[in-house]
Amino acid sequence: MQRYVYAFGKGTADGNSSMKEILGGKGANLAEMARIGLPVPPGFTISTEVCRDFYANNRNYPDGVWEQVDEALAALESQSGKSFGAGKSPLLLSVRSGAAISMPGMMDTVLNLGLNPEVAEGLIETTGNARFVWDLYRRLINMFGDVVMGVDHSHFEAALDRAKEEAGVDLDTELSAEQLKAVTARYLEIYSEHTGEEFPTDPRDQLKKAIDAVFQSWETERAVTYRKIHKITGLLGTAVNVQTMVYGNMGETSGTGVAFTRDPSTGENVFYGEFLMNAQGEDVVAGIRTPRPISELGGELEGCNRELLEVRDILEKHYKEVQDLEFTIENGTFYILQTRTGKRTAFAAVRIAVEMAEEGMIDKNEALMRVDPAQLDQLLHPMFDPKADRSPIAQGLAASPGAAVGRAVFTADDAEEWVAKGEKVLLVRAETSPEDIGGMHAANGILTSRGGMTSHAAVVARGMGKPCVAGCGMLQIDGAAKVVRVDGSDATFAEGDWVSIDGSSGEVMIGKVPTIAPQLGGAVETLLGWADEVRRMKVRTNADTPEDSVRARSFGAQGIGLCRTEHMFFGDDRIPAVREMILANDETGRRRALETLLPMQRSDFEGIFTAMGGLPVTIRLLDPPLHEFLPHDDEAQQEMADRMGLTLAQVKDKVESLSEFNPMLGHRGCRLGITYPEIYDMQVRAIGEAAVNATKAGVKVLPEIMIPLIGTDVELGILRERAVAVMEAVFAESQTVDYMVGTMIEIPRAALTADAVAKYADFFSFGTNDLTQMAFGYSRDDSGSFLPFYVEQKILVEDPFVSLDIVGVGQLVRMGVELGRKTRPNLKVGICGEHGGDPASIQFCHEVGLDYVSCSPFRVPIARLAAAQATLRDDL
Ligand code: ADP
Ligand code: MG
Ligand code: MG
Repeated sequence: MQRYVYAFGKGTADGNSSMKEILGGKGANLAEMARIGLPVPPGFTISTEVCRDFYANNRNYPDGVWEQVDEALAALESQSGKSFGAGKSPLLLSVRSGAAISMPGMMDTVLNLGLNPEVAEGLIETTGNARFVWDLYRRLINMFGDVVMGVDHSHFEAALDRAKEEAGVDLDTELSAEQLKAVTARYLEIYSEHTGEEFPTDPRDQLKKAIDAVFQSWETERAVTYRKIHKITGLLGTAVNVQTMVYGNMGETSGTGVAFTRDPSTGENVFYGEFLMNAQGEDVVAGIRTPRPISELGGELEGCNRELLEVRDILEKHYKEVQDLEFTIENGTFYILQTRTGKRTAFAAVRIAVEMAEEGMIDKNEALMRVDPAQLDQLLHPMFDPKADRSPIAQGLAASPGAAVGRAVFTADDAEEWVAKGEKVLLVRAETSPEDIGGMHAANGILTSRGGMTSHAAVVARGMGKPCVAGCGMLQIDGAAKVVRVDGSDATFAEGDWVSIDGSSGEVMIGKVPTIAPQLGGAVETLLGWADEVRRMKVRTNADTPEDSVRARSFGAQGIGLCRTEHMFFGDDRIPAVREMILANDETGRRRALETLLPMQRSDFEGIFTAMGGLPVTIRLLDPPLHEFLPHDDEAQQEMADRMGLTLAQVKDKVESLSEFNPMLGHRGCRLGITYPEIYDMQVRAIGEAAVNATKAGVKVLPEIMIPLIGTDVELGILRERAVAVMEAVFAESQTVDYMVGTMIEIPRAALTADAVAKYADFFSFGTNDLTQMAFGYSRDDSGSFLPFYVEQKILVEDPFVSLDIVGVGQLVRMGVELGRKTRPNLKVGICGEHGGDPASIQFCHEVGLDYVSCSPFRVPIARLAAAQATLRDDL
């Protein structure tokens, strides 16, 4: 006969904490606590397998369940010398649900099962405490009615309120025995009114109905929805815990409470909790009376407090983890009713892991595995005060974490102007483009109505560590009138209005929501230091300016994996020269313009080399389509015409001739390098000269020249040869510096032919943003209109621009590494797409043998920890 019921009692239990799957979390821990001798009221757990079989069998219980329940009940009776729902000292029971994963939405607890009028009389006689007994009884009817029979709790609540009012008291504890007896009678009426039947007086009937209700609750809509939202799959069902009642409501030496073994919000090693005297069940959390801090328990019941502190110590040492526990004191006797792993904030998680390792409770590797790398994000940005009131008016993508508050402006220029005048602004745009960089930099945060997680706004914001909510499609942005309307609501805001965005949740609020500073502390540094000792992969950063480089270094970056040069072309002092270069009709014209740019680029690189002294810096040569740099309005076109001695019409023609239907797949990247070789020549020369200058100044430099958008080995062969020639020419003028030439692998064809490409590459860097875009054929900037739907409908498990699509795009990466290293065994390989900061993608990078990941400065700490965890998983 299959076993369905597992007992737990004084010092023994059939189950233990490893049996969560069949006993549920609560049942497994009750068994474990009984086993190690803690004062757990005896009881038994009906396994999750019953739940599974019940549903597999058209809601019929498997054979033998009720017999096993009867046996377990008989054993409880004989051990306690009490009878269930009979006699002068009756056994009463609680029935509680509990699946392997704790899950609100499951059935609530029913306490005090086994009471009927006769039993109540007997219990009054033995305890001499009528008030206590009627309190139990009215609670039973309320809970059974609500939880088992679906009678709305508010009916009972209203009757209790009326009784208190009539008695002229505020608290339930102030009601006398007689008054509670009357409440009980009223509750029985309410019960019959709403159920059309009498409240069951047969204790076994009560018990059976309660157990049945728990199993039935597994498939209620609310439970099913919860599991769906939280992606909980693969559970057998819920277990049912039936347990001897202990009474916290017997008077002033009784009570109940909840506690955490350490402070779950700061992580500090202090006992943290609350209790209520003369209370039962969930009075503490239900807010019926204001609970008191746990530190005051000693003043009430010194012995019990001592016992509680001992239990705290025992549980934490036993589980080697912070515990969230529930206890009840019955007439001065202490009982423990539940323990489970305590939920905690990101900051507490880090501090607890580090301190537990320092205390010797766990080892450093365990500490590293305990912290979810993604959680670290919370620690690196200012956030909204969790206590603050917020009523979001719209929801977009949580594109770059952190809280931002500012006055709405609608153009990048306005952002810069307002900030120059001392204002704080939030840049609100349909989408952003490279020309908006200045305004984005000036703004406190960025809000867009279009684009996905790797849209320009999102990528650049993350790089800058600026909060961003992107793709907020419900915003109707009227850029001309400078107002925003929200679909489906009458909320609006206009230029100058205060707006708050939460880049960690995607919420948009009108007004100023208060913020709190990031809580970076010693514990984070310590943990990351341990991560550095463990991890195999290096962590670099994507940074375009000396300031970003310095910040990334302070977060622990070991080099730059992607320095984009196009942003360097945008400053007011540069863009005219860039435009002149593009608009020039011949090579001579282009060269003249490039001459102006050369010293500027050189000093950019010197700045970055200096900031990253001694660490490698990968510089990507010009990548975006030329049209992004072109003057599009009359005024700018006229300025270029004047500058170059052309007519406005001539400039317009030229701009027209350069326009493309699909610029992202057009004349960009190495294709430009091939057709206008002078551009890359200038950039390479700037790199070479900057490297020489820095070296002369005593700074060690390791430049890596990266050629973007290679599709064939021939392209790279040509461009490598040119780059080497320019570098040799620079060195011939002064001295030699070590450098590398490599390529980005971001076009599927390059990955597929990586053995050939590697002939000309000292390194590969997987540009997984473009690789994903091209492998899927999804435009990064337009996928916002369908990707969320795809994810919701489970057509895709996740947004492939957020977490690398291992099955598909990952194949290209794996193949690229393998083929590349076949040609060049010492080929250095990294990743510089946004995925370089995503823990699941980092795990994959580790598995396929990448040498480093590169990510935005603010994600460097996340990557350090994720890379360490990946290394530790090698030994699992
Ligand atoms: P939850 O899953 O919401 O924590 P529980 O199953 O822990 O629900 O039960 C709800 C409340 O009932 C808790 O406060 C718990 O302490 C109390 N409770 C459960 N079983 C007993 C019992 N045998 N004796 C006294 N109180 C109990
Ligand atoms: Mg509980
Ligand atoms: Mg690219």
